[in-house]
Amino acid sequence: MYFFKTITVNPVLPERIGRLKELSYNLWFSWHPEALELFKQIDEQKWKECNHNPVKLLLEATGADLERVAGNQDYLQLYDKVMADLDRYMTEGSWFLSKYPHLSNKSIAYFSAEFGLHESLPIYSGGLGVLAGDHCKAASDIGLPLVGIGLLYKQGYFTQHINREGWQEALYPYQNYHEMPVKPAKSLDGREIIIPVNLPGRQIYLKVWEVQVGRIKIYLLDADITLNSDQDRKLTAQLYGGDKDTRISQEILLGVGGVKALRIMGINPGAWHINEGHAAFLCIERLQELVQTGVPLAAAKEVVRASTLFTTHTPVSAGHDVFDADKVDYYLNRYYSLLGLDRDGFMELGWDPGRQIFNMTILAMNLSAYCNGVSKLHGEVTRKMFHYLYEHIPVEEVPVFSVTNGIHTLTWMSEELKTLLDAYLPSGWQNNISDREQWEAVENIPDEELWTLHRRLKKKCIHLVRGILKEQKERHQESVEMLGEVEQHLNPDAFTIGFARRFATYKRAALLLRDKERLARLLTDPERPVQIIFSGKAHPADHPGQELIKQIHDLSQQEPFKGKIVFIENYDMNVSRHLTQGVDLWLNTPRWPMEASGTSGMKAAANGVVNCSVLDGWWPEGYDEENGYAIGEETGYRNEEEQDRDDAYRLYSLLEEKIIPTYYHQTEGCPKEWVARMKKSIKTITPLFSTERMVKEYAERFYTESSIRGQKFTAENFKIASQVHNYKRFIKENWHYVTVKGVEAPGDSEMRVGDTLQLAVKVYLGPIPPEDVKVEAVHGCEGDHSLTSIKTVPLEVEEQFSEGLYKYKGAFALEQGTCGFTVRIRPEHPYFATKFELPLASWAQSF
Ligand SMILES: *Cc1c(COP(=O)(O)O)cnc(C)c1O
Repeated sequence: MYFFKTITVNPVLPERIGRLKELSYNLWFSWHPEALELFKQIDEQKWKECNHNPVKLLLEATGADLERVAGNQDYLQLYDKVMADLDRYMTEGSWFLSKYPHLSNKSIAYFSAEFGLHESLPIYSGGLGVLAGDHCKAASDIGLPLVGIGLLYKQGYFTQHINREGWQEALYPYQNYHEMPVKPAKSLDGREIIIPVNLPGRQIYLKVWEVQVGRIKIYLLDADITLNSDQDRKLTAQLYGGDKDTRISQEILLGVGGVKALRIMGINPGAWHINEGHAAFLCIERLQELVQTGVPLAAAKEVVRASTLFTTHTPVSAGHDVFDADKVDYYLNRYYSLLGLDRDGFMELGWDPGRQIFNMTILAMNLSAYCNGVSKLHGEVTRKMFHYLYEHIPVEEVPVFSVTNGIHTLTWMSEELKTLLDAYLPSGWQNNISDREQWEAVENIPDEELWTLHRRLKKKCIHLVRGILKEQKERHQESVEMLGEVEQHLNPDAFTIGFARRFATYKRAALLLRDKERLARLLTDPERPVQIIFSGKAHPADHPGQELIKQIHDLSQQEPFKGKIVFIENYDMNVSRHLTQGVDLWLNTPRWPMEASGTSGMKAAANGVVNCSVLDGWWPEGYDEENGYAIGEETGYRNEEEQDRDDAYRLYSLLEEKIIPTYYHQTEGCPKEWVARMKKSIKTITPLFSTERMVKEYAERFYTESSIRGQKFTAENFKIASQVHNYKRFIKENWHYVTVKGVEAPGDSEMRVGDTLQLAVKVYLGPIPPEDVKVEAVHGCEGDHSLTSIKTVPLEVEEQFSEGLYKYKGAFALEQGTCGFTVRIRPEHPYFATKFELPLASWAQSF
């Protein structure tokens, strides 16, 4: 093999527009239409061909084109404005630092296996990555000192082609990093950074790259350098590719390499955010660091926990990475001695007692102070899912919280709508997305104006769709007539449904295709025609997912569906943007409750595209009966077949009876009622489901707490960390003594609202002093094998009877609907992050 030294030959940018280069390397461009316009005007055709990659565009632009724009007064005016906007953005005040000035030097490390920032940086597979990208953009907007850590994949996820037979083909083109908005990170002395990470029998060297996202940076690790063997260079080739060995190796590179990279760059985060279990090995490396400096492992665990937040993203069990004990042995045994643990001790850090396997989610949960799901419903589902780890406490109190996902609104909202909103919303609305009040002004937009704009975006979307179909047919070497046919595909006046997302089977892409006759009637109605645009990738190992694609593709080739159902290959952020801006209805049909959140519907809503969705993920929080449509109710089913059949039936009825008639009820070409729904979508959903709201919530509820806790636990030679550890050990050793001996509650069983219930409780604590526990009355309802609607009232020590035996007293007022009460004892420590940081409780047995 030949070895080439890569030299990037930069075009000579005329000095007057010299800062285009800087702009091309700051992903800030991705949410600023005027910045994108600057690149587009250099060469519109090239801009499209390089998939809107500004770095590549500048490398390929001709001198003549650059001179042309540099001599154009309008261009220069726009250029000056964009640069002034960028400068202002980079230096403007920070919401975070004005609120938490004492945390200015406490950065937050955000680890994620994928980041979806822009189509020019294809290191994402779907919602998880796009969320991570949107998270970083919002962090930059609010001035959060966040730093991202991820991997740079030479082949990205994969490029999807649909072949002539309708099968997905996965292509793995090599990305040229020198043509992408990434730069080698430099150390303080200006050198490129290479990090060594141990894998069995050798060291892997990782080059660190840097992506600038507004004011923050994401560091990406890359094994594809000549210091590594050919085999090892492929370790960062593909996102979610390869076998279990590749996967565990990648996760070690991400977690361990990420921590090392931060250290070398002199970044010492105050808080650590594990975005999905893939990154959980960062905890192991941090433990190792502390132990090497002489901190006992037990205290080290408390420090790591104190400063870490973990976000879990899916209730689908295959979405949780697990590794056999043998794999863990092979890849991580060097940590056993580094941490002073035996094999069992190490396994315990992430052991899943249910599945009897090492589970990255459990590792993350064990070593994080906080754990959250990504919608209220997902929080609930996750608590149920992991209840088996918390057998002593009710499912409702399993310490898993929720922060509902959002989108980076300015990335996803069309330029056209932004301009329209500029005219109707208070100025500065773009910096205040989560302020709900200002969105009321959406009602002031004249219906016709919003409708005309929407029709324009729909045409634009259809134009993109036809272009992609045409390219596909050209590749298939279809005849000129067949190519021409594409221009007749999709009718800009017909009601258009969009369905685009990863083709995981639980998302049920083909639900609407269950009854072909009924579907055909819908699509071919001469008065009220309907059409559907599908797009999405199936994981290359997911054969049922690929079958679904083929099924849709085949249907799209047959009468009467031809031209009315289309499948667009290679779903990416560009396709996603066009579809969520330009279709009429955004369809979402996951099998309840498998969708953790979903975010594409939020993108649609922000653009006035009406949602029609199963009440799963974020939708139960977003739906208010007027801003979209709900398919069915929030319930589970006995079996999948029944669930699919019922949901399909409901979806057809909803379309036939409500949605399509509303859409086609038009006066002078404008569907007033429909537009009312569009407005409701924009105004009620945009402020709540924005990453601005979301990242502020992470900051206020978790990042600040984690930073402060990390600091406290480390201070004075890890004094508090040791205290917390000693406390936990003492409590665990003695918990078997702790019992509720008796409960007296005078009063009869039929009391009235407002009556006070007096309680006298006898408890035995053994050697545990009363200040180490909380004795509390718990009232709520019983159901679903657990207590629900739980409220607690603390009881106070009244007297000590004898060694370890105490009387507690208290009272609480009965609320309507109180179904019952009991008494329990639980550990309590002032430095616990959550009520059940030590998930023990001793409950009254009978009284
Ligand atoms: C927004 C987005 C997703 C997430 O969609 P879901 O609603 O979560 O299914 C996936 N892929 C791309 C390219 C996106 O832009």
